[in-house]
Amino acid sequence: MKTLVLNSYNEALQMVDREIPSPGPDEVLVKVKACGICQTDLKIIRGDIPPPIVNLPHVLGHEVVGEISAIGENVTEIHTGDVGVVYSYVTCHKCMRCLTGRENLCDNLKRVGFELEGGFREYLVIPAYNFCPFQKSLDLHKMAILADAIGTSYHAITTLARVKPGQDVLIVGAGGLGIHAVQIAKLSGARVIVVDIEENALDLAKKYGADETLKPEKAEQALHDLTQGAGVDAVIEIVGAPETLKWSFPSLKSGGRLIIVGYAPGRPFPLDTMAMHYHEYEIKGSRFVTKAELLDLIKLVERGEIEPVVTKTYPFAQANDALDALRNKTTPGRIALTL
Ligand SMILES: [Zn+2]
Ligand SMILES: [Zn+2]
Repeated sequence: MKTLVLNSYNEALQMVDREIPSPGPDEVLVKVKACGICQTDLKIIRGDIPPPIVNLPHVLGHEVVGEISAIGENVTEIHTGDVGVVYSYVTCHKCMRCLTGRENLCDNLKRVGFELEGGFREYLVIPAYNFCPFQKSLDLHKMAILADAIGTSYHAITTLARVKPGQDVLIVGAGGLGIHAVQIAKLSGARVIVVDIEENALDLAKKYGADETLKPEKAEQALHDLTQGAGVDAVIEIVGAPETLKWSFPSLKSGGRLIIVGYAPGRPFPLDTMAMHYHEYEIKGSRFVTKAELLDLIKLVERGEIEPVVTKTYPFAQANDALDALRNKTTPGRIALTL
């Protein structure tokens, strides 16, 4: 099978030929149909997520959709020919985090495309638990981004920010995640304010329901004016860098919630403890999505309440071009590879 391998940091992926793996008793063999690409893939290529998390040579790809081509002898609920999305967090189902519904924090976590090799290849073996089927009528390349780009936003806005109708939500970053955060916050009934550096990303955010779109340099004053000085109920920080946090965090109203989704490795942000005390701000890190949330999300997409935004696809063999497009921000929204 064709497989794209990252042999050394900051270099193009190499196409190699490998044996097709076979599934163990509780596993399934997925024929990969599409794979989303994400900023985290660029971090891995740059060496920002080094061993022991990602070891070279490595196969990227954590947003995988495909069709079942074989099942292990113990697998009864999934059948050959089913299509579905890969829940990319392979968890132990035994630790206290797994047992309390927080499997995204599993003590024994291994992730497809990180600790485990990812979906930039024709076939992939995963535990049957990690395959989440959906209706065959849906576009596979769009469904690829469900777990990460959409699921991460869903977990942040619905479970952690607990956004309610009538609230004001600030979304910082309108890329692949942000464009879905916009849709989910709108579905929750909030007024949605989006900040991004790129004009084309703001246009796309507007198309998918953003009420207000702002450039970072104007954000501080505009947020003050839009909320009559009160501040927003929740900030969804998809960038998570000191440069944006310095104005996004202070835009919260008293008792507001800052949800940190994106991160800047090695660049911490100082915390004003006096402001924390006076305003009882809540700050939460947000990591990925649980399988239960992902199953809810599949229903929302099947009913047409959320639209996966894949703005461009590239054939598998042109993965390096797709990564360049993401790197150079030439395409707003999400990019996917098709196989
Ligand atoms: Zn990702
Ligand atoms: Zn666990």
